[in-house]
Amino acid sequence: MNVSLSGATRVVGLFGYPVGHSRSPAMQNAAFQARGLDCVYVPFNVHPEQLPEAVEAIRSLGMVGVNLTIPHKQNVIELLDMVNEDARQIGSVNTIVNVGGVLEGYSTDGQGFIRALKEAWKSPEGRKVVVLGAGGTARATVFALIKSGAEVAIANRTISRAEELAEAVYKNFAGLRITAMTLESAAARYSIKNADLVVNCTSVGMFPNVDAQPIPMDYLHPKLFVYDQIYNPWETRLLAAAKRLGCGVANGAGMLVHQGAIAFELWTGQTAPVEAMWETMRE
Ligand code: NAP
Repeated sequence: MNVSLSGATRVVGLFGYPVGHSRSPAMQNAAFQARGLDCVYVPFNVHPEQLPEAVEAIRSLGMVGVNLTIPHKQNVIELLDMVNEDARQIGSVNTIVNVGGVLEGYSTDGQGFIRALKEAWKSPEGRKVVVLGAGGTARATVFALIKSGAEVAIANRTISRAEELAEAVYKNFAGLRITAMTLESAAARYSIKNADLVVNCTSVGMFPNVDAQPIPMDYLHPKLFVYDQIYNPWETRLLAAAKRLGCGVANGAGMLVHQGAIAFELWTGQTAPVEAMWETMRE
């Protein structure tokens, strides 16, 4: 893609360590181009020790804002002037907006996931959902699903981490109790058999371990929709098995597109050109 720069070009950054593999530059630059905005999205390899200076540079260089990826999403919080409710609850910021020198932190992952889910399936409101995993992505996913009115249970390899996430839900949602269980348990099997939606937030099945699957395939049933947060490979072993059974399926590319679309909207105040963003993902 050709990006033309002028003396007035505004910069949006991506801070990570490393950032080389990210698809966000292609996606966001396509979005700026589609909207005719004189903005450019540039990845920066920011060593963890240099995060404070890099964040300060958002102000000093007059950048529009940045995205954050591993390992900066948690550590950046103390460097910001404010963080929104989603970011505070999940303890992670993926988007900074520079409002006249005031740095605002947001997490767009959870709402990005909900938009992706509605696009691929339907609203999770009133639906029974089992979330597999208890890491950062699971946390954003569980919180967003609860806010959307879903009935959520968590299954994770390490039960203590599932219980910690359930405890965080209890604290943030006025004493709401949700079930925490291990992946290969009778409880998980039963919950999935009775669920409308399963969301894989574990890294099981991700490249290069593409032959792995997070749950036994006989937990699945044809009425289930299966959303896998993984998008490399495009079709995980879990999604392939679910598809064979007749389930509706979607991979994590939708969440990546929609978390980026919400960030675009925060930086520019304009509706995101979602189709142009999807196009870069399909390429
Ligand atoms: P994380 O915080 O490291 O959590 C990893 C999770 O996977 C934990 O629940 C862990 O269980 C589980 N796990 C790892 N290896 C396992 C194994 N062999 N068997 C069973 N469970 C295992 O990672 P994360 O940041 O949440 O990312 C999770 C996945 O989401 C990754 O595949 C990542 O690519 C994907 N992701 C997608 C998007 C998107 O935009 N679609 C964004 C971010 C991440 P334990 O607690 O037992 O260790």
